[in-house]
Amino acid sequence: MIKFEEAYNIVKNINFQLDTIKVPLNDALGFVLAEDVYSDMDMPPFNKSAMDGYACREIDLSNELEVIEIIPAGKIPKKTIGENQCAKIMTGAMIPQGADCVIIVEDTQELGENKIRYTKPVPEINVCQVELGNKPNVNICYIGEDIKTGDTVVNKGSLIKAQHIAIMASVGYTEVLVHRKPKVAVIPTGDEIVEPHIKPDISQIRNSNGSQLVAQLKAMGIDANYYGIARDVEGATMSLIKKAYEENDVILLTGGVSMGDFDLVPEILKALKFELLFQAIAVQPGKPTVFGRNGNKFCFGLPGNPVSSFVQFELLTKPLLYSLMGQDYKPLNIRLPIGKDFSRKKASRMSWIPAVFTDDGYIVPVEYHGSAHIRGLGQAQAIFAVPIGVKELKKGDFVDVRQI
Ligand code: AMP
Ligand code: MG
Repeated sequence: MIKFEEAYNIVKNINFQLDTIKVPLNDALGFVLAEDVYSDMDMPPFNKSAMDGYACREIDLSNELEVIEIIPAGKIPKKTIGENQCAKIMTGAMIPQGADCVIIVEDTQELGENKIRYTKPVPEINVCQVELGNKPNVNICYIGEDIKTGDTVVNKGSLIKAQHIAIMASVGYTEVLVHRKPKVAVIPTGDEIVEPHIKPDISQIRNSNGSQLVAQLKAMGIDANYYGIARDVEGATMSLIKKAYEENDVILLTGGVSMGDFDLVPEILKALKFELLFQAIAVQPGKPTVFGRNGNKFCFGLPGNPVSSFVQFELLTKPLLYSLMGQDYKPLNIRLPIGKDFSRKKASRMSWIPAVFTDDGYIVPVEYHGSAHIRGLGQAQAIFAVPIGVKELKKGDFVDVRQI
């Protein structure tokens, strides 16, 4: 049995990435970038008004100003602002020549005959000045202050989110190079499980892992290939795994990995030439988690209990899938204080406990009876880690939390 950190490193260090494809920008969400994205222009591309107001010269602010032009966004100013002159300007419009500040509409008074006046005490304009380089920012966004031509704006290896798509759109990318998503097979195993549309007889339960894994993959933007239930018979399970091996990059099995007489998965994987890189991890739930590799194909034998399967997918399968997709995946661990005392009987494994966030910033365990208790998991917003060796936590002790 190995520690979680070792298992995690084994999964992260597979040293293999899936090939690259071009996808239209609007379909790129959830892929990992396989190229650096550069800007073909300065942003903003011109000195731009940050507000609706009047563009003028700061030294003229105590005087009446003559409005010599109206500048809408998207139009090039025709005139140069001279002494005691201004141009009415809209947010996003180009600052005219001669102007060095924009006073906002709310701080002005119209005097008639195309004249306006600044209504604030003049020194106040300096109060809101933000030094950007050496230039005072007086409601002006300066050319290139956000992005310069040639800057890398999104890095290779980034998991593409909506905000990255905005950046790439703004620098003119209509398609991007990404790693393809892995083809992933889902195969639950077990003689006692039946598909959800069937009413189980007295010794059976419904297959919840299959649907759960398909959904966990879908949340990552991966369409699973579902192969149906493999029965606890060597021949049948072997041929299903073989077929899945030929058609996929990754196979996710559940059940059949513990110490029972009919837990056949590890031996079948070995027979199919998978090298088993680990077969047990010091984590609860999910001790009998198996990870195997055959060339550039990978297999997880996840535990049969649904909470274990869920948690191990989050902890180990996700990093594998993101590594294959080209991302240097780092889980988002938030450190939060626990909202009440916590204790457990044994401390030989790391535990992950289903929990909820409280409004006052604590994390609190939900009622949870163990790895088959999917109802408890369904009520949780997060899981938090209790390290090996820790039996008790006091209210206020900090723990690593992962949103689920
Ligand atoms: P196993 O690892 O095959 O011994 O299964 C461990 C526990 O998980 C047993 O109680 C199984 O009935 C249960 N189990 C296995 N597969 C599934 C599944 N697909 N959906 C729900 N429970 C399952
Ligand atoms: Mg089983």
